[in-house]
Amino acid sequence: MFYEERCTLCGECLSKCYYLSYPEAKAKSEFEKLIKGEDSSVTRECVTCIRCNNICPENANPFDLISKRQEETGTFPFNKDRLINYDMVSKIPSKITIGDPGKSVMGVALIQKARLPGVLEGQLFEGLTTLSGGDYFSWVGNVHIGRQSLVNKENVQNLVDNYAKLNVDEIIFYHEECYVVVTYFAKEFNIDVPFRPIHIYEYLRDYVKEHSDQVKKLNMKVAYHPPCSSRYVNGMDEVLDELFELIGVERVKRKYDREGALCCGSVQSAMDTVSKEEEHEWRMKNIMDAKEAGAEAFVLLCPVCIPGLRGRAKAQGMEPYILSNLVRLALDEELTHGGAAKKFD
Ligand code: SF4
Ligand code: SF4
Repeated sequence: MFYEERCTLCGECLSKCYYLSYPEAKAKSEFEKLIKGEDSSVTRECVTCIRCNNICPENANPFDLISKRQEETGTFPFNKDRLINYDMVSKIPSKITIGDPGKSVMGVALIQKARLPGVLEGQLFEGLTTLSGGDYFSWVGNVHIGRQSLVNKENVQNLVDNYAKLNVDEIIFYHEECYVVVTYFAKEFNIDVPFRPIHIYEYLRDYVKEHSDQVKKLNMKVAYHPPCSSRYVNGMDEVLDELFELIGVERVKRKYDREGALCCGSVQSAMDTVSKEEEHEWRMKNIMDAKEAGAEAFVLLCPVCIPGLRGRAKAQGMEPYILSNLVRLALDEELTHGGAAKKFD
């Protein structure tokens, strides 16, 4: 939610944005136009990375206003065919795979074997009950396609209810967006969540701690690419740092990590106004920043970020890994489908 009463019209959200980078006067005036509901270039140029919600010194959530105006005006240039694809993915039939009695429940949303082979294999996932498909689909992605209003109380309540039907004390969320719905958005809509949501970082850290005798320290420098959903999550970066330390991984300091993270490029790839060259340039800024910081590997979390970055990382000599696969490597498991669900020659 945008808090207009907190906004001082300082313009920092638009002047510090990597993609808009407006001069101060323009940043102030364009943001004022957004507040007044007037036409603004921002609704056409913003790539929905959500970073300005973290930039704003007043915690006014400027992206929530931008997103609202993108929908109201219909000016966000998201490709119509890609919109149809998104809708089809959100309707994938739901499935509950019952695991071993006493083992945890994990929401895996839309992580499909066909698109990300090997990702849910190995001891980290053995015996878990898994929940997949449309009933467990996070609605947060709608903020990236100009349909913010679908992240509403009714849809969030439905999602919480679907998970609550499992009647368990806690649920692990592999996909961070789903964790965001049952934490950040449930709180925003005053929805009671009758189970404890476990972030994937927490699950991996605790698993590694409990199996420390199996861990072989990787002694590796990695670059991490946080998903845009991390803008809604508090306190988990420290958990990730702890996990990295436990498996012997150094997270290199770089411009485009933590608060400074870039969009993975997936939204730009679906914007009619962004050329393939421009999309590639932005992705390469991220990759080269990682390489120049001395990373040997490039680590990702979100399944949407993976396809556009793994090949580019590999081409620059950095092995790409999905976070859980990096942990599997430290547990001495063979990654039969590669670190990021694709074998490279
Ligand atoms: S939303 Fe925040 S950063 Fe943007 S103009 Fe208002 S106070 Fe400044
Ligand atoms: S969401 Fe990202 S691209 Fe859009 S204005 Fe905010 S910082 Fe810029």
